[in-house]
Amino acid sequence: MNILDKALEERPLKKEELRKLLDIEQPKELELLYKTANFLRQKNLSNSCCVHGILEFSNYCKQGCLYCGISTANTNVPRYRMTHEEILAAAHEAINRYGFKALVLQSGEDPAYSVDDLCSIIKEIKKNDAVLIFISIGEIGIDGLKKLYEAGARGLLMRFESSNPALYSKIHPNCSLETRIAHLKAAYEMGYLVLTGSLIGIPGQTKDDIINDILLTKELHAEMYSFGPFLPHPETPLKDAQPVPSTEILKTLAICRIVDPVNAKILVTTGFETLDPKAREQGLMAGANSVMLNVTPEKFKKNYTIYPHRAHEDESIQYQIDTTLALLRNLGRAPTDLGI
Ligand code: SAH
Repeated sequence: MNILDKALEERPLKKEELRKLLDIEQPKELELLYKTANFLRQKNLSNSCCVHGILEFSNYCKQGCLYCGISTANTNVPRYRMTHEEILAAAHEAINRYGFKALVLQSGEDPAYSVDDLCSIIKEIKKNDAVLIFISIGEIGIDGLKKLYEAGARGLLMRFESSNPALYSKIHPNCSLETRIAHLKAAYEMGYLVLTGSLIGIPGQTKDDIINDILLTKELHAEMYSFGPFLPHPETPLKDAQPVPSTEILKTLAICRIVDPVNAKILVTTGFETLDPKAREQGLMAGANSVMLNVTPEKFKKNYTIYPHRAHEDESIQYQIDTTLALLRNLGRAPTDLGI
């Protein structure tokens, strides 16, 4: 297919061409798409793979996102909030015992932690250990972002979830896409590494929306592309929706690589692994070069139920590391940021 020839030469593709790639259904053509993406990854980024840790420190959330299992509407999930000491201990262990060099601190939008609280946690972690800290705490405000950067945060993980403003408003009551994007743009200007992307398969999303999501991610100067499937949660208004076939996610990852062949870190999300047990291997062979391992202490982790039956939810940190390293070795890859 000459669109893929063009992609192999790293010439920018038009929207209609990207859309054609997303429309591929034939197994042979799919294979070619994934191989093209894999080739571009190997050519530009060699065998490197990011392995970040993610610490989910609170599942309280004041927002009512229609798809999310920890939204304020779900009164059936036991809520937890880690103390400063618990967060520091978990971070210390992830960094020093397990060798993580990059750590995402994630939570619902939980007003119980003030910006100052979060700053002091970040300062404390950075005082003891050399680690790249990403925050993923929702819309903390532009001033909040500034203070957190000054405290030592260097990355923002915040999906814009959907680049379609009407769809965005429908699934995020009382929120606007504009505000979300403003955070992402301001963060980049401040010097944050930006990790963003969207949910694939939200009811009402079109294929053109997905292409626009990929292009918006690039426009936002994403360091890492984070695209995963929407997975219906039984305690949410979208409980009866059907998740997308996993091929749609694989195609999305491959197209991300084609759109940003040289620099992009492209994540195989836990959501994708929950949808399809082969996701990690298949994603890494279709343009992706990044995974995140969950370092939340077990007693808390089981209640961070943004969607049900999360992949790896019963696995210890060591087990996740062992299996990840074994898979990477098998594929001829090496972790860039894990190891003592
Ligand atoms: N409060 C933070 C973190 C949200 S949870 C923020 O606002 O960014 C992290 C991610 O989980 C979200 O960005 C969303 O894309 C994803 N998520 C939530 N519910 C989901 C579901 N039902 N299926 C798949 N992913 C979901």
